[in-house]
Amino acid sequence: MEIGVFNLRDDERPLLEKWKKENPQVKIRAYGDNLSLDKIDLARGCDSVCLQTISEVGGDLCKGLKELGINVISQRSAGFDMYNLDDLNDYGMTLINVPRYSPYAIGEYVLASALYFSRNLNRIYGNSKRHDFSWTPSILSKEMRTLTVGIVGTGNIGRITGKLFKDMGAKILGYDIYESNEAKGLLEYVSLDYLYENSDIISFHVPLTDENYHMVNKGAIEKMKDGVIIINAARGKILDTRALLDGLESGKIKGCALDVYEREYGIVKKDLSGKNLGDDLLEELIKREDVVFTPHIAFYTETALENLISFALDESIKFIETGKSDSVVNG
Ligand code: NAD
Repeated sequence: MEIGVFNLRDDERPLLEKWKKENPQVKIRAYGDNLSLDKIDLARGCDSVCLQTISEVGGDLCKGLKELGINVISQRSAGFDMYNLDDLNDYGMTLINVPRYSPYAIGEYVLASALYFSRNLNRIYGNSKRHDFSWTPSILSKEMRTLTVGIVGTGNIGRITGKLFKDMGAKILGYDIYESNEAKGLLEYVSLDYLYENSDIISFHVPLTDENYHMVNKGAIEKMKDGVIIINAARGKILDTRALLDGLESGKIKGCALDVYEREYGIVKKDLSGKNLGDDLLEELIKREDVVFTPHIAFYTETALENLISFALDESIKFIETGKSDSVVNG
């Protein structure tokens, strides 16, 4: 069997080599390039292709792959919104994704960010840089076991995140449009308003839908506790950045960690050192001492990358050999 791996980054190469050693029966062709129609020949002779594309995959590419006798694509991410599923179905292509590659990666990012603000490290680092080594009420911190953490979206990532905070002794409140039995032993389900009104730290773990665009807006922030810490490692568009900046400016919000941003697509994964970002809102965010902005890297751990590669390849082999996989998107 032969699989063409595309969009391979340098950080993935050693992990792919490891997988190859463990699976010597499979031949791998690896390319840094995106698989586009003009490069379709790179896939000739493969049984499936493994992508990590962020560009649209529609009818043209499906037709090209079909002509090469390839009808399985595995995508090394959970998200698959770049694929036109109707086109995939029309050409009889099967798409496999990796829905759960490491919820702990995101959970640990959230925990680290929450502690950064709850222990006032942003203020303390700032003071030290100015040679201010005084002990003042503005840096007096609260211990996690005295705090209440609100988890909005109690799916795979929300539950693990809640568990990490619970292990540190925090009280956990949860809100989800579908309550899960698995989460019930871990957290107390409450209304969204109650969660907003009673949480010291609020972390969002919902997908972006038509209903929750800007769910964290001026009205929502007003309901939150004074001095709340907000963390968004879900999707940028669930949060109204202007309203967030106003909340930070007024002191209503103590600190905010944003791993995602409403207009992140032009900047994420790019080195724009020294360049003007052309986005005043983002520039304003980044400058603030009470904001941690990161470029969609909450997932970015060795474990997660290893799981992405091995799951995507293992499942495509399983599908080719048995016609079955637990992770078929358009099945
Ligand atoms: P999941 O599907 O397991 O859980 C999502 C939960 O959100 C579900 O329980 C669902 O019922 C709930 N939900 C949906 N809409 C809601 C709403 N309006 N209000 C309340 N709850 C709602 O997904 P997951 O694997 O836990 O991932 C959560 C999100 O994390 C993803 O959708 C993605 O946006 C984001 N994510 C971010 C990164 C990163 O690196 N920053 C990595 C992976 C995933």
